Amino acid sequence: MQKILNYINGELIEPVSGNFLQNINPATGACYSLCPDSDDKDVNLAVDAASKAFPGWSNTSASERSRIMLKLAALIEENNDRLAKAESMDQGKPFWLAQKGEIPRAKANIHFFATAIEHFASEAHPMGDHALNYTLKTPLGVVVCISPWNLPLYLFTWKIAPAIAAGNCVVAKPSEVTPMTAFLLAELCIQAGLPPGVLNIVHGLGPKVGPAMNTHPVVKAISFTGGTKTGAEIARTAAPLFKKLSLELGGKNPNVVFADCDFDKTVSESVRAAFTNQGEICLCGSRILIERSIYEKFKEAFVAKVKKLKVGDPLAADTMVGAIASELHFNKILSYIQLAKEEGGTILTGGSAVTPGPGFENGYFIEPTVIEGLSQYCRTNQEEIFGPVVTLTPFDSEEEALQFANSNEYGLASTIWTENLTKAHRFAAGIKTGIVWINCWLLRDLRTPFGGMNQSGVGREGGWEALRFFTEQKNVCIKL
Ligand code: NAD
Repeated sequence: MQKILNYINGELIEPVSGNFLQNINPATGACYSLCPDSDDKDVNLAVDAASKAFPGWSNTSASERSRIMLKLAALIEENNDRLAKAESMDQGKPFWLAQKGEIPRAKANIHFFATAIEHFASEAHPMGDHALNYTLKTPLGVVVCISPWNLPLYLFTWKIAPAIAAGNCVVAKPSEVTPMTAFLLAELCIQAGLPPGVLNIVHGLGPKVGPAMNTHPVVKAISFTGGTKTGAEIARTAAPLFKKLSLELGGKNPNVVFADCDFDKTVSESVRAAFTNQGEICLCGSRILIERSIYEKFKEAFVAKVKKLKVGDPLAADTMVGAIASELHFNKILSYIQLAKEEGGTILTGGSAVTPGPGFENGYFIEPTVIEGLSQYCRTNQEEIFGPVVTLTPFDSEEEALQFANSNEYGLASTIWTENLTKAHRFAAGIKTGIVWINCWLLRDLRTPFGGMNQSGVGREGGWEALRFFTEQKNVCIKL
């Protein structure tokens, strides 16, 4: 059985304890590899390696850091299909989605920050002719990056790329549910010539490895993407230690459909926004709010399209909905479908676990599920399900749509569908989410600030925001 290894000080090594966890293929429910069950001893080794590497790496020129990172980006591109297959087996997502979307995006993350760092400059603030301020931006030191299981390599690289580009050394932890592509990335880092200790990857259980990383006295900053509850726990333990924190957390995103939308495009894109990656994207539009005059027409067209989505083998080319990432999450989603029924919802399509064929009897597959008849204020519409489950709700006015959209403690992303751009701008100004898409979904420019409001997080990633997070600003004032 293949053993995934930690990547510490430039080497692939077993955890100190010698203990491993089973790594499950969610399409079959079978263990197919072993993941290190690391603990604080491994974290200490990783932090030591990062500390030792920091003086050298932080003094390396931006162009040299860029050169090595561009080599890594090229290696990800060369290994695109191998990484995509690994991601699909580990996470359950359709292979084509990883092949065409996520792995190219992982490459783009590395490429983007490798080039951005060469343009990241200090600012100067002259005070007439009597003084000059300049602001140095220096790397922080050893930083922690923790990522979730839904878009494994995509989100892992989104964090480590700005951190190492800015001259920091990193101790990173991918999710224990999907450790494989971070392991393969470690092999590529060695091939790319990344100096030992610049990136260290410690695999293992979140509650065991995470606190050891987050409370380590040497660690200066934590960039975390994951659930809101975990984010709160990290803030509770790390904030009193004055660690810099970036928290990208959960979402329960409204998808607002006005009667004057481009109907066919809105239906197709709303299906994509709801069910891509089995609905396991923090940005998925899971609360679909529809202007009452087109509610029935939209419902009919939407449900008809959802019924055509093929649930199947993640490696098959025609699969649109793969397996749910883990048994735990599979059971959580099914319990929410049950809750929706208890809360008075009507299942329009889906609602059950399925076996999409021989060999998948023990896999974690759920039919794409559409529910109507629920209040915006019930738990089904307030809590993050993070699976192939959406609700449809009619609204009567723009004011009511805004009230429904903002009725939630989360505030990550929203989507608005209307051909009336004045209304779209007005609505975008009123909605309380960090990201607003008008007549599109998941259209990303890596330069833009990315993050959520309220329980969806603290801080912004992307572009200069990420490079600012991973640097300390020091202002120097000179009296002339
Ligand atoms: P999770 O919070 O359970 O785990 C995320 C990571 O944190 C994993 O690596 C896990 O091992 C680790 N972890 C768990 N407990 C920890 C602790 N006490 N200290 C430190 N680390 C710990 O989240 P998940 O189930 O892996 O991911 C799903 C969640 O992530 C959803 O809520 C989703 O919305 C969110 N998410 C948010 C974004 C965003 O950009 N805002 C993107 C993707 C996913």
